[in-house]
Amino acid sequence: MSEKYYRDTIVDVDLAAIGHNYKAVSGMHPDKTFIAVIKANAYGLGSTAVAEYLSHIGVDFFAVGTLDEAVELRMHGIREKILILGPIRPEDMNKAIKHRIAVTAPSYEWLKRAEQAIEDDDGKGVWVHIKVNSGMNRLGVSNIKEVNQMIALIEASPYLTYEGLFSHLSSAEVDSERPFKEYGTFKSIISQVKKPQFVHVQNSAGAFHLEADECNAMRIGLSLYGYYPSDFIAGISPVELKPSVGLVTHVVDTHVLQEGEGVSYGLKYIADEKVTIATLPIGYADGFLRSRTGYKVALEDGTSCPVVGTVCMDYIMIRVPDHVELGDKVHIITPKRHSAQSMESYSDYVDTIPYESMCKLGRRLPRIYH
Ligand code: PLP
Repeated sequence: MSEKYYRDTIVDVDLAAIGHNYKAVSGMHPDKTFIAVIKANAYGLGSTAVAEYLSHIGVDFFAVGTLDEAVELRMHGIREKILILGPIRPEDMNKAIKHRIAVTAPSYEWLKRAEQAIEDDDGKGVWVHIKVNSGMNRLGVSNIKEVNQMIALIEASPYLTYEGLFSHLSSAEVDSERPFKEYGTFKSIISQVKKPQFVHVQNSAGAFHLEADECNAMRIGLSLYGYYPSDFIAGISPVELKPSVGLVTHVVDTHVLQEGEGVSYGLKYIADEKVTIATLPIGYADGFLRSRTGYKVALEDGTSCPVVGTVCMDYIMIRVPDHVELGDKVHIITPKRHSAQSMESYSDYVDTIPYESMCKLGRRLPRIYH
């Protein structure tokens, strides 16, 4: 294993798969600027490494969730364009200016305070993307009058540049009229206000679901990493995405339990016959939730083995064939769509979605890129 890490539990990130997905999704809308969404540490995969790779294959526009994420990318030498998808604290505008980061304005009030907080832009200025609320009711402006007031404020300011107009869809991943309706709302605003350089609405699901002809950019996260936002989207997809994430570990101990003996905290699993138990160095501190007891991991030969007993902070125990020994490799998540250890199965088991499972991959898991 890697010399830099001292525990053999690894998130394996297949950068070539991410490259494949970038080509596949951008190829569906070749005329649109591809904004790679690498917030939340690139959905857990490591934002600097993912950004470095993407910039190497031609991506020149990234989006993150917070100013801290943007500054971290700058500190690691990422020079491409970065947009923060939500409002920062108005008083932090000077930091955004210093690091040449584009900001999102969700309201006139925010924009006014943010503009007033600028001390000195050193002639650099700051790019602003106005966020329109088209039905999700989370962030953004809902009426044309306010959008126009914001554009006027930006244009009157010596510091601000009107660079983007965007919205976010509430439910593009489901088979419904909703995304079309929300896009219609956004489109009506686009048609009545001054257009900036970038107009964008599609997330991954939106890229599969809508043409969004009025937009010239799109913000893509999950599908870049190889996962469809829903089975419906997978069903209508003209392209095959390649999952990019594997989670592997290695056996650190084994025990033979006699009938009636138990395992882990509370001895909640009691052997009903003689069984072999293997201990794996991963636990809830790594994002392996306690509710995953019963989830089946796979040995190198494909044998599936259930997690038994309580999930601990640093360990889980699995029931294994008796030949399993110290050092054997175990797959917890495999980069294969229909496998029992796919990211989808891993997520379904605890009633969540790949987005959350990925973000929960713990900080202390080394990410290995290949
Ligand atoms: N745009 C915004 C505003 C988002 O919040 C997100 C993700 O949460 C995205 C784009 C990317 O979405 P996806 O990962 O579904 O492509």
